[in-house]
Amino acid sequence: MSLNSPSYPVTKSQYLNFLKCSNSFYILNQALVAKTQTPHSGSLEWNEFSDICRSRFNDSVHISKQIPKEESMEQTKIAVERRKTIFHGNFKNEHFITNIECLEPVRDGEGWILWDFRPIGSMKLEILKSLFFQKKILESLGMEVHSSKVIRIQTSYEYLTGEEIETDKYLFVEDVTERLVRENERFEEEWSRFQSFLTNMEFPVFSESHTSCNSPKTCYLKDTCFSRLENGDVFELREGYEIAKKHYLEGKIDLGSLPEEDLSPIQRIQRNAHLHGTAHYDLPQLTRYFERTTEKVAFLDFESVNPLLPMFTPSRPFQHIPFLFSLHIWDSRKDELEYHTYIHPPEKGDPRAFILEELAKRLPVDITIFSFNDFFEKLIIEEATQVYPNFKDWWENIRPNFIDLALPFKKFWVYHPEQKGKASLKEILPTMSDVSHGNLSIKEGQDANYQYLRLLKKQVTEEEKFRVLEDLVNYCKMDTYGLFLIYRKLKNHLSISQC
Ligand code: SF4
Repeated sequence: MSLNSPSYPVTKSQYLNFLKCSNSFYILNQALVAKTQTPHSGSLEWNEFSDICRSRFNDSVHISKQIPKEESMEQTKIAVERRKTIFHGNFKNEHFITNIECLEPVRDGEGWILWDFRPIGSMKLEILKSLFFQKKILESLGMEVHSSKVIRIQTSYEYLTGEEIETDKYLFVEDVTERLVRENERFEEEWSRFQSFLTNMEFPVFSESHTSCNSPKTCYLKDTCFSRLENGDVFELREGYEIAKKHYLEGKIDLGSLPEEDLSPIQRIQRNAHLHGTAHYDLPQLTRYFERTTEKVAFLDFESVNPLLPMFTPSRPFQHIPFLFSLHIWDSRKDELEYHTYIHPPEKGDPRAFILEELAKRLPVDITIFSFNDFFEKLIIEEATQVYPNFKDWWENIRPNFIDLALPFKKFWVYHPEQKGKASLKEILPTMSDVSHGNLSIKEGQDANYQYLRLLKKQVTEEEKFRVLEDLVNYCKMDTYGLFLIYRKLKNHLSISQC
């Protein structure tokens, strides 16, 4: 395959992509796939977070992100000459370009302090690699980097006052200069590998020694690298990437072509379901699983926000705050399905007491409660009752009633070939019913989180607000209605098999 030369200047994010996978670098550098950005909650809070970080610095220049690159670089140059603290400066040498979150001159000394602001709770190696890249560019321009520091979030911070966030307690400043020195040899080796790649680009690289592709199944660039993959390919194999890769390199693409002796018990279930095109049911396990369930059962789901800047007291950064629940209750004897929901009006502040109160009114204490990955629902209630202890007795009563409806799928007691090796509700529901999340405006929990945060931050018009609230309710309703359909299908299958 004849390849183009690199498109210069190479950006910091392209370099970081190379470190993950050379194929993704090639695709993005050559613009083979358009870059897409999905809005998420972090993007709504970024400006506030960065303003809090910036408030720690004096005598600064803020380079606007809206101006053309050349103008930005010119303004950066002037600020460097005046030895100002520079926010969002742009620096470019012959081949590379980088923006820098914050560059502070060493007061009463030489050189610069390289800062990064990260709205996250723990340090990641990728941040150090990013700083390494920035440092390389600055040094190539003759600028001395005296030290490197990262400002991130103190996740144990408790927001108690309802006033402004206490910056000193909320932010965590980490000096990573020494860590960069310790990692230098390894980072330099990666840098040289990158330089060699730029002089002799290869694409796509997929061989026994290519270890950077963890799974094409989850990479949004897979169609460019693996154009031959289709439904039922070897990479659908659950927990079997190395086996899949080995067979793919030998030319086997279809899941059914894998030899049984190479596969684990759950992988055999997958292979056989794919070969026969039928669902697998482990009837004895399912019978045991349903043994303890009551005849009237509930299906419960919460939606939550987890703002990095706490909004309600008391809460911590990233703590999940429920704002909506959907509850279906099915009485199997009467074949009656009830539906209850509560969405908290965003202008009314902390939703937790309202959620608990509404749920306690509607959820009987003596019936089985199904949730999908019930750990989350239990955590939401547990944390809310810590703030509102008057609900603790109620919670102690209902806690043992929870059963995880994801369990039979995670354990492969039930598997349909259309799940494609996955066990998420979005994949399972269409295989068990004729409904799916496909027609909803909100399709993912992350989007629901983002949309409600927009409401809390008053970033929607009054007209849009009602539509968003309705979309949120519909999304959550589909989840619990879906759980009901799955439950009924499994129970029906069991009773038919036992006849
Ligand atoms: S599909 Fe795999 S090889 Fe292709 S870009 Fe993604 S991670 Fe890299």
